[in-house]
Amino acid sequence: MNKGTTDPAWLERLKREPRSDKGHRILKLLRQCEQTQWHDPEDILATQFKQLSRLLGHAQSTIPHYAATTSHIKSGDVRSLAAGRWLDVPVLKRQTVNRLGKELLSRNIPQDHGSLNAIYTSGTTGLPVRVERTKHTLDYWSAFTTRDHIWHNRDIDGVLAAIRSSEKKFALYPKGARHAAWGSKDGVFKTGPSLSLNVGTSIADMAEWIGRNKPDYVLAMPNIIKRLAPWCMEHGVTFDGLKEVSVIGEMCGELLRDLCQEAWQVPLHDVYSSREVGYIALQCPVNNHYHVQAEGLYLEILDADDQPCKPGESGRVIVTTIQNYAMPLIRYEVGDYAEAGETCDCGRGLPVIKRILGREQDILVLPGGQHSWTLLGSPDVRDFMNMAPISQYQFAHVAADKIEVRLIVKRELTDDEENNIANWVNKKFGYPFDISFSYPQELALTKAGKFKDFIVEFRN
Ligand SMILES: [Zn+2]
Repeated sequence: MNKGTTDPAWLERLKREPRSDKGHRILKLLRQCEQTQWHDPEDILATQFKQLSRLLGHAQSTIPHYAATTSHIKSGDVRSLAAGRWLDVPVLKRQTVNRLGKELLSRNIPQDHGSLNAIYTSGTTGLPVRVERTKHTLDYWSAFTTRDHIWHNRDIDGVLAAIRSSEKKFALYPKGARHAAWGSKDGVFKTGPSLSLNVGTSIADMAEWIGRNKPDYVLAMPNIIKRLAPWCMEHGVTFDGLKEVSVIGEMCGELLRDLCQEAWQVPLHDVYSSREVGYIALQCPVNNHYHVQAEGLYLEILDADDQPCKPGESGRVIVTTIQNYAMPLIRYEVGDYAEAGETCDCGRGLPVIKRILGREQDILVLPGGQHSWTLLGSPDVRDFMNMAPISQYQFAHVAADKIEVRLIVKRELTDDEENNIANWVNKKFGYPFDISFSYPQELALTKAGKFKDFIVEFRN
């Protein structure tokens, strides 16, 4: 396989002596990751199975839940685990993590993994979980943050503007907040300053704030970019000096990449992460798909029969956090669906996720029980927007055979336009739904400030 290269300026940076203990630890990981990313896929998998074997042994001997649920599996037999025995380890559901809580904590956490730090997340499922991570786990988190900068060759002396603060009364327009660095101050490398703005800011004010502060990079949730880019095009607003947009926290989709190019002529990069497991995959520097962060976690994509998906097939995302010896999540069902990809031609042997399809809630269950994906592709959205002057839309599945189309429109729609949309929706989702329309003042965000194109409002 063709091995690629890392930018020489970054290779030079990786040789530098770090400024702090933490910096030293993270730099060491980054130097390792610089090597391991180019390993052959088979070698990466073999290393992972050694790590999985060790982790499972640790879990069996120090966490009663795993001792009970995996007693039929010999953790030390790496060869048989790799040959398929691993698939007999039960999948860990979010409900189980929610129910067992601290019982999933190891009774013998390696001392050199450092102190514990808890993270709480309710996701979009309303099922809160608490996950404990060690310093060692968080070092990987930091290393992957920097790896993302390396892969996308960011100029870290530049200014980063993040529109992601949802804290009440923090980083309010017009000032926002200013920080000395991009991440924590004791990070690996010195960076330029970062700015933050509250997600509650109006789109017009966001555009004004970005234009006034002239950042090199903008980081936001996809729903913000989805509204900001068309607004800027409509009002002829461009951002001088903007180099790239990064998104995190929601499904991204091709449409968004096209929008960024169209509105500001910049690339968009996506990060796939979850609070409880950290970075799952980063966008390849060369292609629009994702590389699993295999040094930090083992990822499986399982079909409806719990068998691994082949490239081109889609299934549930299952993650094992191989570096977390405090509260390892072993075969944890993240709640997302993804499509497995072929080995990448960029030279990196890290596994590939072709597409992230969405969360379980993004699946429309048809009255006959079949599934339909609700994430609209770029051509879908174009067709949809061309049917009427629509500014924003949301589909609500309100009863088994009923969909309510919620629209914010630039003028009142004609009966013909409504009929066309109703026909399009039924064709798209593959069922003759009873379609109704509503025209609210605004479409509500979730508590975490996220926006969903598609929501389910009844119990199946
Ligand atoms: Zn690649």
